[in-house]
Amino acid sequence: MSELLGRAAVEEVLSTHWLGRPVYYFPAVGSTNDVLGEMARAGAPAGTMVVADFQSQGKGRLNRRWEAPAGTSLLISLLFRPGWPAGQAAWLTMMAGLAAVEAVQAVAGLAAGLKWPNDLVVPAGEGWRKFGGLLLEGEFAGDRLESAILGLGLNANIPAGHLSPAAIRATSLLVELGRPVSRLKLLAAYLECLEFLYEAAGEGHSPHPAWNARLVTLGRPVQVSGPGFDRPLAGTAEATDEWGRLLVRDPAGVLHAVAAGDVTLRG
Ligand code: ADP
Repeated sequence: MSELLGRAAVEEVLSTHWLGRPVYYFPAVGSTNDVLGEMARAGAPAGTMVVADFQSQGKGRLNRRWEAPAGTSLLISLLFRPGWPAGQAAWLTMMAGLAAVEAVQAVAGLAAGLKWPNDLVVPAGEGWRKFGGLLLEGEFAGDRLESAILGLGLNANIPAGHLSPAAIRATSLLVELGRPVSRLKLLAAYLECLEFLYEAAGEGHSPHPAWNARLVTLGRPVQVSGPGFDRPLAGTAEATDEWGRLLVRDPAGVLHAVAAGDVTLRG
C-alpha cells in the first residue's frame, strides 16, 4: 500500500502556480473526468484538479473501461480553458504524455515511452507494456477549444496479480521496478512539467517534436483499426504531424493521415 493521498497531502507537494489548484480529493468516484466535467460546467476555473483513489467507472477512449485497485494509482483530471483553435487540441495529450514520461523518469528512474496516441508504455522486447493512459475530453465553441478535461490513469503501485485482466500487456511501475513509488512525488513532478509545457505552448512552442521523439510506434510495421476503418490499415508508421495524426505508408506507397485508431505491431 502506498502513501495516502488527500487534499492536504497533495497541496503540500504542489510546486505549480495554477495547475492542480484548487484540488478536490475523493476516496472513490465514478470517473474523475466526469466529476470534473460537472465542475467545469458549473464554472470551475482553469487549473482545477480532481484526484481519486478509486474509480468505479474509469474510462479510456471509446468508453472502454480503465480499471485499477483502490489506492494503487494516480487517477487525476485537470481542467484547461485554452481557447485554442480546435485542431490544436491534441497538443494537450502530447504535453500530458511528455509530462508523465518526464515524471516517471525523474521520480522512478524509469525510461518510459509513448504509444500513439495516448498510452504510456515501457519498451518490452519487440513491443511494449502499458502502464498508463490519457483521456482528453474537449468542449468546442465553433473552431475554439473552449475547455478541456485531461484525465490521467497511471499504474503506480499495482501488484502483478492485480492488473486489470481485461488489459493485454498491462504493467505498473511497481512491477517494472520491484519497489513502490511515491504517488505524491509523481503527481507533483507531472503537474510541474505540464504547467511548464502548457505555458510554453501559449507562447507558441509546440510540444510536437519532443512528443514525436518519445513515440515507440514510429518506423515500425503497424496495423491500424478502429471505428473509422472498414478494414485494418496495414503499413509503416512513418511520422506524426503537428496535429497529432499518425502518418502511415501503405504497401502501395500511399500515405494515410490517421486521426484516431488503435495501433498494433505487425510481424
Ligand atoms: P488503448 O488506447 O490502448 O485502446 P484506452 O485509452 O482505450 O486504451 O484505454 C482502455 C483500455 O486499456 C482497456 O480496453 C483495457 O484493455 C486497458 N486497461 C484498462 N485498465 C488498465 C490499466 N489499469 N492498465 C493498463 N491498461 C488498462
